[in-house]
Amino acid sequence: MTASMPKLTPPAEPAQLNLCLQWGAIPGGEINEKLDFLEANGFNAVEIPSGDWPIQNCDAMLKAMEARNLSIATACGPSDFSYAEPERREAEVQKHLPTIEALGALGSVGLVLCPARGKVPMGFKELREDFVTNTGKRLAEHAVKHGTSIVLEPLRRNETPFLRQVADGARIAADIGPGATVMGDFWHMGGEETSFMGAFICAGDLLSHVHVAGLKERIVPGVHPEADNYVDGFRGLKMIGYRGAISLEGGWPKDPDDPTKPISQDKKIRLMRNMVELLREQWAEA
Ligand code: MG
Repeated sequence: MTASMPKLTPPAEPAQLNLCLQWGAIPGGEINEKLDFLEANGFNAVEIPSGDWPIQNCDAMLKAMEARNLSIATACGPSDFSYAEPERREAEVQKHLPTIEALGALGSVGLVLCPARGKVPMGFKELREDFVTNTGKRLAEHAVKHGTSIVLEPLRRNETPFLRQVADGARIAADIGPGATVMGDFWHMGGEETSFMGAFICAGDLLSHVHVAGLKERIVPGVHPEADNYVDGFRGLKMIGYRGAISLEGGWPKDPDDPTKPISQDKKIRLMRNMVELLREQWAEA
């Protein structure tokens, strides 16, 4: 019955497609070369490494970003807050604090974090409580102070049984409060969600970042066009007025001309341009 259907409030500002690459995937050696490539090839955002990188490259990056039509999305790198020993969890918190400060100075969306990976030493209930009230909470508070956020990334169950769904990540972020957000990675979502659109709607305003890869193989989208359909997910992003980045996190296919050799840079660039075209078409269709 239509009368009992839930109503969605249309977003105040319409959604916007901001395609993005991770630092390591961008052709070019030094900072300006990479940023030039992004601007020349239809990308609007850049995803940087985490750890010491934002600290060491903060000034150079700020200078290189001047007068460009690019924004700094998230910083992505390893994290784990599920150690049985409290002092190891504390060391993990301390490790990320200066990175968060640099991300704030850079105007970055935030630091991607996975609360747990692999075999989880803590009990799930204990880990959730500790992350929401202690480790994750303190990092989120630090992020707010510096004008950025922490971004929880749900993974597939073989990578982490603890956080696998966008709705669960959004609930954890909401329980932490200001400074905590969630992201969706199409690759992980393909294995864990029943609906891309539903998952993004569940995240709503808390969604701050998106990763994209092929849905059949975790490589650049477009190599298996029959499988790489993001229209349903993009509809969800449009419904919530998503204006963050959609960033490629995936590898490369084998060189079709010689599968024994790594694929050439020229071919990678062609595949990236093909991806931009495919994602733009699907965004328009959504
Ligand atoms: Mg990811």
